[in-house]
Amino acid sequence: MAWKTIDDMGLAGKTVLTRVDINVPMENGVVTDATRIQKIVPTVEDLIARGAKVVLLAHFDRPKGKVVPEMSLIHVKAALVAALGRKVVFGSDCVGDAAKAAISEAAQGDVVLLENTRFHGGEEKNDPKLAAEMAALGDVFVNDAFSAAHRAHASTAGVAALLPSAAGRLMEAELKALEAALGDPVRPVVAVVGGAKVSTKLELLGNLVGRVDHLVIGGGMANTFLVAQGIEVGKSLAERDMAATALEIVEKAKASGCVIHLPVDIVVAREFKAGAANETVGVKDCPKDAMILDAGPKTVAALAKVFEGCKTLIWNGPLGAFEIEPFNAATNAAARAAARLTKAEKLVSVAGGGDTVAALNQAGAASDFTFISTAGGAFLEWMEGKTLPGVAALG
Ligand code: ADP
Ligand code: MG
Repeated sequence: MAWKTIDDMGLAGKTVLTRVDINVPMENGVVTDATRIQKIVPTVEDLIARGAKVVLLAHFDRPKGKVVPEMSLIHVKAALVAALGRKVVFGSDCVGDAAKAAISEAAQGDVVLLENTRFHGGEEKNDPKLAAEMAALGDVFVNDAFSAAHRAHASTAGVAALLPSAAGRLMEAELKALEAALGDPVRPVVAVVGGAKVSTKLELLGNLVGRVDHLVIGGGMANTFLVAQGIEVGKSLAERDMAATALEIVEKAKASGCVIHLPVDIVVAREFKAGAANETVGVKDCPKDAMILDAGPKTVAALAKVFEGCKTLIWNGPLGAFEIEPFNAATNAAARAAARLTKAEKLVSVAGGGDTVAALNQAGAASDFTFISTAGGAFLEWMEGKTLPGVAALG
């Protein structure tokens, strides 16, 4: 591991700047889903137990360098108090006198919450002056916001360059899970990549074919691969101008011994809506006036076989238009197959992506996966094989 954890740091009596993701959904000033807040509790408690004074740094929404009162973190304070059961002292700025006053007011065991880092234009520019002002507030930096690690911002990469730094518990769990899936996985490894478009996942596919043993391509993007092989897909979503690119990916896979799996049967409909009349046909038999909205049962059975033959699974992107029933069938069935194998300790399963997490939750499979990443963009960039600046800075 190229990064330190809380275990590697001496923290007694230290003021620890802790970057967290508490960018929670809110309606009329009330937090509607406190999941992200719940998730930082173990790190905060661990730091306090080690004698540290915890100072939280976080962004909230997109104020774009201006003070926007509705985007103040003061609105999150009550939910934080509820989750921690501790006194929270709010600092009305994340640097300078207001921040210093809040930190000195807080006793050990209290938590300091500093105002939205993105109220400063320098945050998203990783301005060294802003980073230095933040660093001046503490002795040690702990980054627990993996979801913000794909951007080099003052409160992520900037401060980390100036203070002794470590990953928080949440960041540590995420990095370990991702390492286990792609860094140094138990083979064979299968990757499932679905979703709407090839164009948004080109880099991801390019990275995966060189690293995994099996690549399952599903969802709308499979249509582009079918078109590339001369199979007609009627009115389906397909990026015909990406056909050559799809073939390059197939060639790259062949060269590196990665087996690509495409649908063998498909569920087609004339309308993109819930309950639309549909039929299951062979992959070469999509009617001219129909579109492919899901994979068929033969495809699912073949996938389950591939999963059974593998030790590690990494998944991004649903296999069909899962938001509209019954076109969630393949995604649900494949998710449950992966969940069963994981529960039986035959498979390490890691999944991420906004729609993917929603789909796996809908399938009732998420809780049985080894790890579900809610990090969105950071998870995808990691799957693309990119170095995340927020993680690199912990090295
Ligand atoms: P994630 O958010 O997990 O990265 P994506 O955004 O790439 O996933 O893909 C999810 C979207 O792909 C969903 O909106 C889903 O409806 C769409 N999709 C999947 N299969 C198809 C299909 N065959 N036709 C049209 N849309 C599809
Ligand atoms: Mg999406």
